[in-house]
Amino acid sequence: MNQKIYNFCAGPAMLPVPVMERAQREFCNFQGLGASVMELSHRGKEFMAVAAKAEQDLRDLLAIPDNYKVLFMHGGGRGQFSAVPLNLLGGDNQKADYLLTGVWSQGALKEGVKFGDMQGHAGSVKGEDGITRLLPTPAFRADAAYVHYCPNETIEGVEMFDIPETGDIPLVADLSSTILSRPIDVSRFGIIYAGAQKNIGPSGLAIAIVRDDLLDKARADVPAVLDYRLTAEHDSMFNTPPTYAWYLAGLVFEWLKEIGGLAEMEARNKAKAALLYDYIDNSSFYSNSVDSACRSRMNVPFQLKNPELDARFLAESKEAGLLALKGHKLVGGMRASLYNAMPIEGVQALIAFMERFANTHG
Ligand code: PMP
Repeated sequence: MNQKIYNFCAGPAMLPVPVMERAQREFCNFQGLGASVMELSHRGKEFMAVAAKAEQDLRDLLAIPDNYKVLFMHGGGRGQFSAVPLNLLGGDNQKADYLLTGVWSQGALKEGVKFGDMQGHAGSVKGEDGITRLLPTPAFRADAAYVHYCPNETIEGVEMFDIPETGDIPLVADLSSTILSRPIDVSRFGIIYAGAQKNIGPSGLAIAIVRDDLLDKARADVPAVLDYRLTAEHDSMFNTPPTYAWYLAGLVFEWLKEIGGLAEMEARNKAKAALLYDYIDNSSFYSNSVDSACRSRMNVPFQLKNPELDARFLAESKEAGLLALKGHKLVGGMRASLYNAMPIEGVQALIAFMERFANTHG
């Protein structure tokens, strides 16, 4: 019963143990109030303090400039697939360009075409050798209202570390599966958004970081709960926000600050990913088919050379306390998600299991 469990789920994903323990301690009786945070009015002074601190901590962690609003919204990552065009295509310009590097950037485009003249541009390609590589940044339409991209494709395990150059065109980034895993220069973006359930907190919540000059470009028919300006004007409390998720996100931000912020987090994430990719690259039993220049630090897909062993691998890894290693159904194989909360011991345990399995079945 003392076996240590590690959860490699792509999302909802594991949260830091100290965060979960603190939430448990405070669950029924927050700050001696005799009530849970989730039972408090969002307009009461206790929750307002929780909300403000969470926002400030996020601003500190990402060094968010003052000319950006931080919005705590409903609807996860996909809600933002709709929010972005609805908030940016209000004027005469109905054009936007999407850089396509995988399933999630394609998903954003598929939603976007409902609202405007969208153009997709290939951003990655699978070569004849089966390796997925990034392509040079394409020429976007000079009059596009924005360019959208997804720096970390959760399903394929493809991460872009360089920010594409778009000149004066606002760059919109879906950071759902890489936000807070490393420092980023927020000033390079018009909008950053992320569903919370990987590196931030529980699902349902989405965070949008929006540059002030983009707050007055919305379509008149933008639904109120997706309206950035309205949300900003009401401090993300136009309607009742997902208060408990917001509180948990705040605990995660505090934890990140305590461990040393995003530079420290990046060092840890690099070390974890390097360990696993090195093991896979040196194995004749497992493989990963992403070019080393764009391998995701957060999501590591890998294949068994003999896929007939997949079901067995999953059953035995689960028994060994290593959960949720099944790859997304679109790509098959395995996927180990190594978000911020995954300690290096989890990666070491995974590698030890992979080695035992390869020795038994190889
Ligand atoms: N974007 C990315 C990169 C994702 O990984 C996901 C979910 N895995 C989404 C968007 C969709 O998020 P949600 O399910 O919160 O709508």
